[in-house]
Amino acid sequence: MWSRREEVDYALQRRNTLQALKRPQRVLDGSDVCDADPLLMRAALHHGEESGVACPICSHARLVNLNYVFGDQLGQFSGRIKSTAELDAMQSEYGEFTVRVVEVCVDCGWNHMIASYLLGDGVKRRPPRRQKTVEDIYG
Ligand SMILES: [Zn+2]
Repeated sequence: MWSRREEVDYALQRRNTLQALKRPQRVLDGSDVCDADPLLMRAALHHGEESGVACPICSHARLVNLNYVFGDQLGQFSGRIKSTAELDAMQSEYGEFTVRVVEVCVDCGWNHMIASYLLGDGVKRRPPRRQKTVEDIYG
């Protein structure tokens, strides 16, 4: 991603969470960290991209990443999940937006934000005109 910038790596927070699970007094237990809600689990099953990393909780190999995009210039698309290929195209279509990467285990529900960064070509644009959604038509 040529426009990737201001990256924040959450590896330290992830490690702290995992270490808290191992302490004898166990301030956290599995149910605190494997708390992916049904929406997140469904998103992970349908839109998750293989991360190649094993789950730190259950060692299941299918840990997937989800890219959430946020930003004023995205209009109604802020908060959506986008594939890496879509992000690649979007960086030339929007001035600036934030990507938050969340890893999810589709087996045990472990989930953690692992990174966030900015993308975009730096050219400020107005949010796209709102498009009709299925909810508008049938809601
Ligand atoms: Zn797991």
